[in-house]
Amino acid sequence: MKVVLLEPYGYCVGVERAIKIALDTKSVNQNKRVIILGMLVHNEDAINELTSQGIETLYQKDKSLMDLVDEIPSDSIVILTAHGHSEDLEKKLISRKIEFIDATCPFVKATFKRILEAANDNHDILYIGKKNHPESNAALSISKKVHLVDIENPSFEVEDSKPLIINQTTFSQREVNDVTNAIKTKYKDAEVFPSVCKASTDRQNAILSLDNKIELFYVVGGTNSNNTKTLAKLAKESHPHAKVILIKNRNDINKKDLLGLSYVAIASGASTPKHISEEVKTYIESLYN
Ligand code: SF4
Repeated sequence: MKVVLLEPYGYCVGVERAIKIALDTKSVNQNKRVIILGMLVHNEDAINELTSQGIETLYQKDKSLMDLVDEIPSDSIVILTAHGHSEDLEKKLISRKIEFIDATCPFVKATFKRILEAANDNHDILYIGKKNHPESNAALSISKKVHLVDIENPSFEVEDSKPLIINQTTFSQREVNDVTNAIKTKYKDAEVFPSVCKASTDRQNAILSLDNKIELFYVVGGTNSNNTKTLAKLAKESHPHAKVILIKNRNDINKKDLLGLSYVAIASGASTPKHISEEVKTYIESLYN
């Protein structure tokens, strides 16, 4: 059986940077609680690895990050995640005199900077994003002039004839293009700020460049990871004859799915640890080669 592990795999630069910030902070503050506010990455294996290093994660699906701040002891050090956050969150941490470190990914920050510039120039911003995703929430908090265009159910209506079109960094370029083109038919003078990050684009291109003989894709990543789900969707669209299965790690592999196959590809999300993807490859090879 031919088993291809698509490159790049392992953490993207933004996730790697955020994890390094958390680990470095803990290593020089052994006697303090280091708390990640929200999911640093949407990957359970990665979170478990951080927990084993003494780094806590404070996250509750039904509670906002603002409310969770109330539960943090003031002598802790808080790490803010790669997805970005609202200015109000920083203000609340400051008012509670809690030390915090901003681990927002530089690619995400670049989109927030452009949004702020456009808002200051009095333009509306049409933000193509996923409802309730932390990156979208952070973008929407920048200004009342930012309007969410839900990628799953796009609708848009602004007064500005030259709005800025910008998007969440982890979508597929195809999805973004579809919504952008629809907006452009109504707002011909809209400015487009390309914002799918390189880490996402490289992973998407690796899938698109695979030949049509591929029979099965395993897409490795967290069930809540937007970029992982985007890769699975893209694999389905671009290789309709192939089976696409989203797995967290090798334990999710059902041997029956591999029976009779000769060509399998493994794609992995930007928040999937390198060794998890490598273990998937080694495991499949050990079964069939
Ligand atoms: S997926 Fe892209 S935007 Fe998100 S953390 Fe990684 S590099 Fe940054």
